[in-house]
Amino acid sequence: MLIDSHCHIQFNAYKDDYDEVIKRCIEKNTILNTVGTQKETSKKAVDFAEKYDNIYATIGLHPIHLFPTHVDEEESSFISREEDFDEEYYGELAKSEKVIAVGECGIDLFHLPKDKSLEEVLKKQKEIFIKQADFAKKHNLPLVIHVRDAYKEILEVLDPETKGVVHCYTGNWQNAQKFLDLGLYLGFTGIATFPAKKTSPKPQEQLLEVIKNCPLDRILIETDAPYLAPQKYRGERCEPWMVEEVAKKIAEIKVLTEEEVRDVTVENAKRLFTKII
Ligand SMILES: [Zn+2]
Repeated sequence: MLIDSHCHIQFNAYKDDYDEVIKRCIEKNTILNTVGTQKETSKKAVDFAEKYDNIYATIGLHPIHLFPTHVDEEESSFISREEDFDEEYYGELAKSEKVIAVGECGIDLFHLPKDKSLEEVLKKQKEIFIKQADFAKKHNLPLVIHVRDAYKEILEVLDPETKGVVHCYTGNWQNAQKFLDLGLYLGFTGIATFPAKKTSPKPQEQLLEVIKNCPLDRILIETDAPYLAPQKYRGERCEPWMVEEVAKKIAEIKVLTEEEVRDVTVENAKRLFTKII
């Protein structure tokens, strides 16, 4: 078994063939945590989770959706919609037994709206993040945390009691330790399988160092599909079953068998997302 702890099977990238993609995931014995980014994608995540046994849902508001922002992610480009965290709306969604976490929420200082000051954006992102952390605590759910170019800023607002995962971790070991000290998990994606860039090998070396040092019982694996296809499928649309490539890479780095990494990451995901059965 495998658990893809972070993907977006409800996104438009799969609108014509999600059924076949999910079938491939079932064949590969892969459980999916499909993660919402705003109201509509959170509701869709719950709909998918209610329909398919191997799918669970995370509901919440991504920091890039707090202001209208132009977003370029690989081949997709869109204007994000402006939204506030509607506790009542998300509270209704959280009634589903298959909602296992709140997110993805956090701080993103990479995608900045052009007409707002950094202070204004950061203030709002922190405020909405804290709202969602409180909501998660109230509903006894862990957080799926998104951080981009904002490790220092997120650490300023993280409550030590927060349970959760820092998704798609690509920072250095020094910051990783701070999250681990808070009891958080680190999620690793297909980025771990990319070769180092000849012109700047440092980020990749740093990521492999983090994986090497990270205690095995704090590692989650994820795809972030439809983004970040692992090296073997680079350039293609990513699908959640490809998380097996991340398991392989971690096995290689930590000198374990792929089976051991599959087992331990399933155990870890179930320890954090206690509603996965
Ligand atoms: Zn994501």
